[in-house]
Amino acid sequence: MDRLAIDGGKPVRKNLLPYGHQWVDEADIQAVVEVLRSDWLTTGPKVEEFERAFADFVGTKEAVAVSNGTAALHTAMHTAGTGPGDEVIVPPMTFAASANCVVFQGGTPVFADVDPETLLLDPGAVEAKITPPRTKAIIAVDYAGQPCDYDALRAIANRHDLILVADACHALGGTYKGRPVGSLADLSTFSFHPVKHITTGEGGMITTDDPKLAQRMRVFRNHGITTDHRQREQQGSWFYEMVDLGYNYRLTDLQCALGISQLRKLSVWVARRQKIARRYDEVFAEVPAVEPLAVREDVSHAYHLYMVKLDLTKLRVTRAEVFAALRAENIGANVHYIPVCWHPYYQRLGYKRGLCPVAETAYEQLLTLPMFPAMSDQDVDDVIEAMQKVIGCYAA
Ligand SMILES: *Cc1c(COP(=O)(O)O)cnc(C)c1O
Repeated sequence: MDRLAIDGGKPVRKNLLPYGHQWVDEADIQAVVEVLRSDWLTTGPKVEEFERAFADFVGTKEAVAVSNGTAALHTAMHTAGTGPGDEVIVPPMTFAASANCVVFQGGTPVFADVDPETLLLDPGAVEAKITPPRTKAIIAVDYAGQPCDYDALRAIANRHDLILVADACHALGGTYKGRPVGSLADLSTFSFHPVKHITTGEGGMITTDDPKLAQRMRVFRNHGITTDHRQREQQGSWFYEMVDLGYNYRLTDLQCALGISQLRKLSVWVARRQKIARRYDEVFAEVPAVEPLAVREDVSHAYHLYMVKLDLTKLRVTRAEVFAALRAENIGANVHYIPVCWHPYYQRLGYKRGLCPVAETAYEQLLTLPMFPAMSDQDVDDVIEAMQKVIGCYAA
């Protein structure tokens, strides 16, 4: 057995392979340059064009572009009408913004535990946390890129008159029972951060089939003002009214042009992610102590992240040591996520450890492995080799 790089051996590869990375090509660059030469750098024709293309891709009537995924979540919470005294059910196994958006509106996030196999929001746990009349909405997170069980969540939402929001930031390009992610909830939110499926540098989108909600969101992203600068220009008018308190959550034309160009490649990129995942799955099925997360049969997983659970009873070390050893081999392993309710901010708000035992136990075992479409076959082989080397060395 080769000596581990962390013990002074030769690393599997020379430079660090990150867990995620954007793919920007010449067509993307040209699209942005064209906007730079045009009259509209922000809130011009590219915003509508990106929104239309995105809505068509996910099969909704409407898509509303905003400045990032967190703004998308905030906009969704505002549009869902959540406020002080309201409770919104969220999973703990997610990025902090999934819960923060509830707090932005003065509401209270209520953490419901996840399913032990998929680490997706457990519909049974959701139902147990509903406290009428305070519960207003559910935020389902398509963790790692696997869509949640939307039929079950929809039934619960209907039964209790709740708004169903999908934090689909991980799952663009996925499907549930043949239906595209983005069309599965009342409001679905996306992020275009460079590690996500497509990028606009920073960017976000909310999709819905309800034109009234879309209109409210367009007002909210523009200070609560009813018309935007370009609409007034086209109408030859200076008059506008601020009808609600909003923010500047606009996405620029530069970014939308990049988004349109990136979106054209999305399907090919998702297919590449799925192919890499199949390779990992096959190999890790034979590696003791490494368990890929379960994938349900009725979904197409978009693989924003490729996660494995370590069976620590079969290892002599902790997850932290496996992580450090992989980094030394120049494999940019990561961990997604520290349960949101464990962060000092939420601890100060009074959320106690032990609230969501399934997520909290899984957290100690989780490892994120590199997964992005621009990875070469050699990169994939390096991850596999490093995993076999490190796990082999640390086997109990
Ligand atoms: C990335 C992400 C966000 C936030 O998106 P930003 O564009 O970084 O603001 C929210 N929720 C989840 C699940 C994410 O992965």
